[in-house]
Amino acid sequence: MKNERSLVYLLIKTCLVCVFVMVASSCSQKMESTSFTAMNTYMTVKSYGKDEKVLHAANYLVQQEVEWLESILSTTIEGSDIYKINNSDREEIPVSDETVFLVERGSEFYKKTDGAFNPALYPVIKEWGFTTGDYKVPSEEKIRQLLEYTDFSRVKITDKKILPEPLPAYYDIADPAPKVIITRPPGLQLDFGAIGKGYAGDKAIEILRKADVSSALLDFGGNIQVLGTKPDGSDWTVGIKNPWGGDPVAAVKLRDACMITSGGYERFFTGDDGKKYIHIFDSATGHPVENELESVTIICREGLYGDALSTSLFVMGLDKAIDFWKSRDRDFDFVIITKNRGIVYTATLEKNLSLLFDFNSVLVVK
Ligand code: ADP
Ligand code: MG
Repeated sequence: MKNERSLVYLLIKTCLVCVFVMVASSCSQKMESTSFTAMNTYMTVKSYGKDEKVLHAANYLVQQEVEWLESILSTTIEGSDIYKINNSDREEIPVSDETVFLVERGSEFYKKTDGAFNPALYPVIKEWGFTTGDYKVPSEEKIRQLLEYTDFSRVKITDKKILPEPLPAYYDIADPAPKVIITRPPGLQLDFGAIGKGYAGDKAIEILRKADVSSALLDFGGNIQVLGTKPDGSDWTVGIKNPWGGDPVAAVKLRDACMITSGGYERFFTGDDGKKYIHIFDSATGHPVENELESVTIICREGLYGDALSTSLFVMGLDKAIDFWKSRDRDFDFVIITKNRGIVYTATLEKNLSLLFDFNSVLVVK
C-alpha cells in the first residue's frame, strides 16, 4: 500500500515537472514579426526562437532577400534581369543565378504541364491590360499575333561565359564575374509573377533555418509557408479563403510545408460584355481562363512547386488537374473550390483538413 502510494506520488511529480518544462520552454520562446511590401503585395514574417536579436536579424535578412529578388525579377523595375530580357534589343543578356534557376525550373513546369504553366505569356497579359490596370478585350487577330511570341521553350541558357576584355559598355562594370547568359527570340517577354512569391518564400525559409529559427510562419500575400511546428510543438492551422467573401471555408494543419492558392477572385475585370476576365491565362487561347474553378490551393514542401502548380492546375480545370496529380505520383495535395460551391481535395489531407463551410458537394480523390 505504502509502495503504491509512493509510486502515484512519483508519477504526479514527474507529470508536474514535465508540464513545468513544457510551459517554461514555450514561455522562453520569443516572437518577432516583420511586415513589408514587396512584389506588389503585403508580406509578413513571424519567427520564433529564444533570442530576440537573432530573430530580428533573421527577419531583416529575409526582407533584404525578398527585395533583392524583386529587384532582379520585376517586370517593371528598369535594370532588373527580366526588364532587360523583355526590353533590350541585345540577343544575349547576362543574368543572376536566381533568374537562371527560375528559367530552368520554369522550363521543367512548362514541359510537365503541357504549357499550362507558361512564364512567356507576358505580351498577351499586357495586351489585356493586367500590367497597367487599363483593361480591354483585345481582338482575336491581335491575340493570335501575340501568341506567336509565347513559346517559352525558345528561351535558352548558355554555359557560363567569361566576359570579353574590355567589357562592352552594357555589362555591369561593378560585377564583371563570369555570368550566365540568356538568349531568346525577338519579341519574347517573361513574367515570373506566378512563381516569384513561392520562390521568395523558399529562400526566406532557408535563411530562417540557417539562423536557427525553430518555428516561423510566412504570409507572402496569401502564400503561406511554415517552418517547423508552432513553438508548442503543435501544427500550424491555416485557413483557405472563401472565394465568395466571409470567413475561411476550410482549415488545414501544416508543419514544414507551404499552402498556396490561386484564385479567380484575386484580380479580374468585368468587360463591356458583362463577363469576368481573370488574371490567370490559358496559353492555348491567349484568353483569361474560363472554367468551373474558383480557386486552387496546393499543399506541399516547396513554395516554388506549390506556386507553379496552383496556377497550372487552375488553368487545367478539374479533370485534368486530378489526372495531373495522379501522374505526379501524388507528390502534392490540393484543395479545389468550384463555382457551384463544391470542394474537391486529396485523400491524404483528410486528417489535416476541417471544413468550415456548407458546400453543395464534397469530393475526396484517391
Ligand atoms: P497570384 O500572383 O495572384 O498569387 P498566381 O500565382 O496564380 O496568383 O499567379 C498569377 C500571375 O501569373 C498572373 O498575374 C500573371 O502575371 C502570371 N500568369 C498568368 N497566367 C499564367 C500562366 N498560365 N502561366 C504562368 N504565369 C501566368
Ligand atoms: Mg502561382
